[in-house]
Amino acid sequence: MIEIRDLHKRFGALEVLKGIDTTVEEGEVVCLIGASGSGKSTLLRCVNGLETYEAGKIVFAGTTVDARSPDIRALRTHVTMVFQRFNLFPHRTALENVTEGPIYVKGEPRNEARERGLALLERMGLAEKAQAYPPQLSGGQQQRVAIARALAMRPKAILFDEPTSALDPELVGEVLGAMRSLADEGMTMLVVTHEMAFARDVADRVLFMHDGRILEEGLPSDILSNPKEARTRDFLSRIL
Ligand code: ADP
Ligand code: MG
Repeated sequence: MIEIRDLHKRFGALEVLKGIDTTVEEGEVVCLIGASGSGKSTLLRCVNGLETYEAGKIVFAGTTVDARSPDIRALRTHVTMVFQRFNLFPHRTALENVTEGPIYVKGEPRNEARERGLALLERMGLAEKAQAYPPQLSGGQQQRVAIARALAMRPKAILFDEPTSALDPELVGEVLGAMRSLADEGMTMLVVTHEMAFARDVADRVLFMHDGRILEEGLPSDILSNPKEARTRDFLSRIL
């Protein structure tokens, strides 16, 4: 589904991605871990076509990802992103946030988009919040609206960038639960997270990023319990 080959990305003089190679298969859940500043968000943004890159390539479901291509908006309907800070429109209801993309980007009929939006909100446990505005919702509820919004595009894959990092601790579980149910249904997911229990239980594979490179990757049990690299051990000992 996602193929990344020798990906290099810089911001001016700063080389942020120094040759990333990995693939995500259809239906796979891959968790990306690593210290702040190691390049995790930049990697996700490149995959989503939000950033250009200088060298290497990213292929999503057979199409090369190029942020400058006129087709990039279409690509973003196939691979959607859930951000740390939800990024909902505050002056639109939960339902309008969910139906905006299907109606305005994909041209779906308003009624169909509404019906499906309500079903997605219900699936996220938010049936009675469809008419609420984001500021009236808790962080966990807002993030579940954001997940419903990501699903509304009928994506082939979803990228999550620390989806629970901005939440109060008691709200983390409801969002991880929603993500776990997507994983169980076979959604292809690339998830940046510091939730090691989630990575251990849900991920098919864990990638450890350090300083713009994937230093180590493998089964969650290997990477989280038995890392080979000293830097991975170091990182885990600091966050666990
Ligand atoms: P992570 O998500 O792992 O914390 P990021 O991908 O956000 O890491 O950032 C990697 C590096 O790239 C950091 O040094 C960060 O300061 C830098 N960086 C990220 N975005 C930009 C940008 N738009 N302009 C300049 N530097 C950036
Ligand atoms: Mg980040």
